[in-house]
Amino acid sequence: MTDRVPMGSPDIGDEEIEAVVRVLRSGTLTMGEATRGFEAAFADYIGVPHAVAVSSGTSALHLCVRAAGIGEGDEVITSPFSYVASANCILFERARPVFVDVDEASMTIDPGFAAAAVTDRTRAVLPVHIFGQPCAMDDLTALCDGRGLAMIEDACEAIGAEYRGRKVGTFGNSAVFSFFPNKQMTTGEGAIVTTGDEATASAIRSLANQGRDPGGTWLSARFGYNFRMTEMSAALGLVQIGRIEEMLAKRERVASLYRERLAGVAGARLIEPGPATTRMSWFAAIVRLDPPLDRDRVIHGMSAHRIPARPYFSALHLLPWYREPFGYSEGDFPVAERIARSSLALPFHNNLGAPEVDMVCEALEDVLRRSG
Ligand SMILES: *Cc1c(COP(=O)(O)O)cnc(C)c1O
Repeated sequence: MTDRVPMGSPDIGDEEIEAVVRVLRSGTLTMGEATRGFEAAFADYIGVPHAVAVSSGTSALHLCVRAAGIGEGDEVITSPFSYVASANCILFERARPVFVDVDEASMTIDPGFAAAAVTDRTRAVLPVHIFGQPCAMDDLTALCDGRGLAMIEDACEAIGAEYRGRKVGTFGNSAVFSFFPNKQMTTGEGAIVTTGDEATASAIRSLANQGRDPGGTWLSARFGYNFRMTEMSAALGLVQIGRIEEMLAKRERVASLYRERLAGVAGARLIEPGPATTRMSWFAAIVRLDPPLDRDRVIHGMSAHRIPARPYFSALHLLPWYREPFGYSEGDFPVAERIARSSLALPFHNNLGAPEVDMVCEALEDVLRRSG
C-alpha cells in the first residue's frame, strides 16, 4: 500500500528544469560555466573565499581528509552519532576514527570529551552539525587552535545554520555541504567543499580532477580521483542556492507546524535549537521518544497507518567495521547509543502542509497511545 505522505521530496521548479535543459543543449556537460557559477554563488552565500564542487558529500569529506595530509596511524576525533560517511572518510585514508560521546541536548560532539581524547597522534577534529544544529564551535575552535589540530566541518545537513550569528562552514580549515535529494537543497548527487585557505582549495580541486594542475594540461600532476560535479548538477545547484533563503523559510515553517502539533503528544519531542544556535537549518523532523518506547516498533506501527518514518541514525562505533577492528563495544558512548535508540525522522519537505503534518502526528499519537 502506498504511503499517504512522502518521506521527503526535493523542491524543484520550472527554473531548475530549464537550467538543466539549457546545459544539455549547450554541449558542455562537465567543467564549464555552470560549475564555476555555482561555486562562486555558494562561496558568496556562506561567506568564504573558496568553494569547490564535487560529486558527493562522501567524496568531499574524503578529499578534506586527504588535503589535510591525514594518513595511516593518524587519529581523527569525531562523533559516533552521525551519518556513516563522516567516519568512513577517515577510514578511506587508513587513519583511525576516535569517537567521543555527544551532548544529550544538541546531539553533537561534546568538547570536553573531545579534549580528553587528544593524543600525540591526533591530527584533526571532524565535528558534525547534525540535523542542522551547529556544534559547540567556541570550545571546539579553542581546542583545535590550542592543540594545533585541523578542523573539518561536516556541514552536510546544515546549510545556512548559524552559531552565535556565524554561519557553519566558516569555522574549519574546510567544510562540506551535501546536495543529496534529502538535503535542504539538491543537485541530485553532489556536494561543495568550502575553505578559507587557497592551498586547500587548489589541492581539493586537483584531487577531484584526476590530480591535474589547475589551469594545467589534461595530464595528471599527482595521484587523484574523478570526483567532479556534472554541469547538469551545477546548473540545478545554481538555481537552488538562489532560492536557499526561501527554502529554509519553508522548512522553518514546517518545523513550527510539527512543534505545535507535537506539543500535545505525550512521549515524543521534536528536536530544538540549542542556546548558541542563532539559526537552525531544518534538515528533517527528528523526534525523540521517551523511554521505554521502542523506536522500531513505533516505526512499524506508523507503517500500518501508511505513514513512513525512518531510524536516524545508528551509533557508528557499533557497526562491524568499527566495532571489531577498533575494539568498540556497547556502553562505550551511552548518550549516542541512547539517542540512536530513541530518535526517528518523520516525513518532512518544503511543501508539507498543516493537514499532512496533522495526519502524521495523529498516526504517531495513536501508535504511542497503544504502546504506552
Ligand atoms: C548526507 C550526509 C553525508 C554524505 O553526503 P552524500 O552526498 O550522501 O555522500 C555526510 N555526512 C552527513 C552528516 C550527511 O547527512
